[in-house]
Amino acid sequence: MTQNNSQRYAFFQGQIVPFEQAKVSVMTHAFNYGTGVFEGMRGYWNEEKQEIYLVLIREHYRRFLRNTRMVFIDVPYTVDQLTDITVELIRKHEYREDIYIRPLAYKSSETIGVSMEGVADDLAILAVPFGNYVPMDRGLAVCVSSWKRTDDNAIPARAKITGNYINSALAKNEAVLNGYDEALVLNGQGLVSEASAANVFILRDGVLITPGFADTILEGLTRDMIIKLAKDELEVPTVERPLARSELYYAEEMFLCGTGVQLAGVTSVDKRTVGSGRVGPITSQLQRLYMDVVKGRVPKYLDWLTPVNQTSRVDIPVVAASAS
Ligand code: PMP
Repeated sequence: MTQNNSQRYAFFQGQIVPFEQAKVSVMTHAFNYGTGVFEGMRGYWNEEKQEIYLVLIREHYRRFLRNTRMVFIDVPYTVDQLTDITVELIRKHEYREDIYIRPLAYKSSETIGVSMEGVADDLAILAVPFGNYVPMDRGLAVCVSSWKRTDDNAIPARAKITGNYINSALAKNEAVLNGYDEALVLNGQGLVSEASAANVFILRDGVLITPGFADTILEGLTRDMIIKLAKDELEVPTVERPLARSELYYAEEMFLCGTGVQLAGVTSVDKRTVGSGRVGPITSQLQRLYMDVVKGRVPKYLDWLTPVNQTSRVDIPVVAASAS
């Protein structure tokens, strides 16, 4: 039963609508002031099982609801309801490829003035085909950005606030303009926080080191998965602690991880070679393992995944696409 697969949909204002109808006004509060909170999740197509696996979808929605609450955006759904809506939205596309899912809760009133009191909230979710965000077949060249991470008492990095991503955009853009693949950003204390849209790990003396939750980072879910996989499958421990910039130059291995980035090795930082100059052995093993896990090839970790086709259906209001 194949329908028009080129038709795309979004969940918008309480129903699934044709993508073209999911539009906001130029006066929308969030468009003007960055008053939104978003998530980024992936779904991986498994050809053998004819299934799309959503990675840690409930954990993503738990983080989403924590963050929307932090910034006074009301989302009238539970984690389970958001999961059901997302599964139905994806099913509607009949995707047979890897996808990216973007939930976005935002201040939706058309009003001038930054106060959020009395300003309405809305929720949009979209799901689009998506490949690699950064190269996976070679090591990345990264630099330390001249842009600092926004302070926790200015715009909390952990909250995934739309307006905060100008900070990531400036860092990434500067890196690309200067010929690098990615940027590492220091926090207000001058310590390493994370990359523009990924967490960072280094390996020293057989131990992985990554900045902790108080070091102005997003509490990355991929970071969590990697810490567990490294410990349980490779017997490599991770220490979460402040990481000085100059320690980056001592790293034997380095990698970035995140939903978009997946797990990407770093082979130079500020023009200094990391380790041997090739993606390190622990990094390569973790990359292979991570990709196997998220694609549903490791039975032990299937409970991190939600299979779209095997999940029972729920009724979500759908607006039909027009015939044109
Ligand atoms: N840091 C930042 C700034 C990010 O935008 C992301 C991507 N969501 C991450 C880290 C990685 O987080 P996760 O593994 O949950 O995708």
